[in-house]
Amino acid sequence: MFLREWLRPPRAVLALFLVVTLVPAAGLVWLGWYLLQQDRALVDQRVQERRERAADLLVAALDAKLRAIEQDLTKSSARELLAQGDDAVLVVLGPAAADAYPRSHLLYYPIASPCQEPAELVFRAGEDREFRLHDYAGAIASFRELSRSEDATVRAGAQVRIARNLRKAGQMDLALAAYQDLAQSGAAPIGCVPASLLARRARCALLAELKRTGELRREAEALYADLRGGRWQLDRALYDLHAQDVRGWLGVDQAVEQEGRALAIGAEWLWERWQAASQGGGRAPGRHSMKVESRLLTLVWTASTEGLVGLIAGPRFVDERWLTGVRPILGAQSVQLSLKDRNSRAVLGAPPASLSQRTERAASDTGLPWTLFVASANPRADLDQLAQRQRLLLAGLALVAILVSTGSYFTARAFLRELAVARLQSDFVSAVSHEFRTPLASLRQLTENLIDGRVTTDERRATYYRAQARATLRLHRLVEGLLDFGRMEAGVLRYRLEPLDAGDLVRSALGEFRQDHADRGHQVELSLADGLPAVNGDREALMRALWNLLDNAAKYSPGAPTIWVEAARDKDTVAIRVRDAGLGIGADEQKEIFRKFYRGSAAHTAGVKGTGIGLAMVQYIVRAHGGHVRLESAPGAGSTFTLSLPIGRDQGPGIRDQGSLERA
Ligand code: ADP
Repeated sequence: MFLREWLRPPRAVLALFLVVTLVPAAGLVWLGWYLLQQDRALVDQRVQERRERAADLLVAALDAKLRAIEQDLTKSSARELLAQGDDAVLVVLGPAAADAYPRSHLLYYPIASPCQEPAELVFRAGEDREFRLHDYAGAIASFRELSRSEDATVRAGAQVRIARNLRKAGQMDLALAAYQDLAQSGAAPIGCVPASLLARRARCALLAELKRTGELRREAEALYADLRGGRWQLDRALYDLHAQDVRGWLGVDQAVEQEGRALAIGAEWLWERWQAASQGGGRAPGRHSMKVESRLLTLVWTASTEGLVGLIAGPRFVDERWLTGVRPILGAQSVQLSLKDRNSRAVLGAPPASLSQRTERAASDTGLPWTLFVASANPRADLDQLAQRQRLLLAGLALVAILVSTGSYFTARAFLRELAVARLQSDFVSAVSHEFRTPLASLRQLTENLIDGRVTTDERRATYYRAQARATLRLHRLVEGLLDFGRMEAGVLRYRLEPLDAGDLVRSALGEFRQDHADRGHQVELSLADGLPAVNGDREALMRALWNLLDNAAKYSPGAPTIWVEAARDKDTVAIRVRDAGLGIGADEQKEIFRKFYRGSAAHTAGVKGTGIGLAMVQYIVRAHGGHVRLESAPGAGSTFTLSLPIGRDQGPGIRDQGSLERA
């Protein structure tokens, strides 16, 4: 309650407070905003520098890696670069031959292995019987002759024809056996198709025709494994021709060949490029990235007129063998790397969409097969740190703002209070002078008249003396009041306590009041409860308190001459009530009027004279007696002041020091 009262700002403080607080507060807000912007720009710049540095390091590291590979490709040990499990293949392309390591990684070759066609004329006699006469036994006899030929291609040609005629003759088991012999004989190619491949495919076809599914599956599986494992060096047409049938028998999808097919297409691309370059004479080493069969290939090669050695690497190989080497850079710089091929298709990761969040190194500038994108590995961490600093800064600014506002508030408040006290004091001085002037002027007038002998009759002289006595009494009361107030303030006033009859006290105060206000036409209605208990108090002080209340009731009730005074027991106290039907006091002033020198607005507007210490004295006195003053009032509805004094049960007569009482 007290704290709230104390913290309540004087009204005039607002303008000053706004100026004193808002200007520095606005300055602080601007400063804070500016600092935050600076901090953000600094963080952005640092992150960007880190990305640039990392991008340069990565380009250098990857370039060194690829250069080393290009070097290795020129050595005979190049094939050791690859292991069986890699999704990569090393191709060696010559003008009329191609080879691959590991062979099993390439489904087919850009060019088929060279082949030698046998003279068709050798088989004419046998084929005449077979196709024209449908004499299969005769045809078989003819081909058996040839199967003992010196020429390996003729031997192989004869064997396959024997098997074919056996099949046509309905001797299926013999036909199967003949194909089996051919497959195992290591015979020469037949029409550029390896004999074993041709024989095994023919066996499978026969088994399919005979619906011997168990055997078919077993043999087709083995054949498919050999086809995919690079057992024969086939070009794309031959491979597809055979693989298509085998997949049909096995019921598998072409998708399983994806990895090998992608590498084979890469090899074809290299071959075509080398062919084109050979014609133009360009034989430089090169690097390229491309997307094939939804797989990303990276190609590195060296070329000369004799041939080309190239490494075709799938995404796993690139990741595990090349990028692993640069990962420490990513960790150290806390960045992440994304790669795109020359057609802007993602090779690795996905770079952030926003240009401000990534650093780019174009393939055309670096000579690398990819375009590099470097982004912060943990952008949240950068932002978190920024946010943390921002929070700290904001908290600091808020604290300073609170301190500035509180400081300016209390400074302004203290300043205004001092102003108010100074104003009240100056009002008090002029009010006291005024209070003195009236009785002094009438004393002077009366005395001059007496000295000049202008008052001739004894009766008139007696009236003059009475008037002089009243003026003197008024002056005396004024001086005593001021002196007592000074003592009360200093805490040195001593109270002579004695048991007092409350009714008697009220009557005496009323008597004095009536005497002082005899000519002013006030009516006092007194109501005293029977058997009022005694109060322990200082008669003179309590009389002064009551007189002040009565005097105020009279002063502030123009046109309402009746004053009501009551005294009654209220629990452990005697309550003495002074009520008037005068101007009344607004709620906002009901506390203020007990402050010293404070004069209410009603007093000013109604032009009532006074010093502003009357109620302060009342409060001092009543509190010194362990009681309190209560006020009930409303503007225009009169006022009731109630003094509550504790019943003097235990305390006997004595002297009480007001200072100690106040402190208690
Ligand atoms: P003073 O009467 O000399 O101004 P006081 O301390 O006695 O000083 O009173 C303080 C103020 O309280 C007065 O200026 C007046 O505004 C108000 N006041 C006191 N008593 C009454 C009353 N009975 N009716 C209306 N206002 C009062």
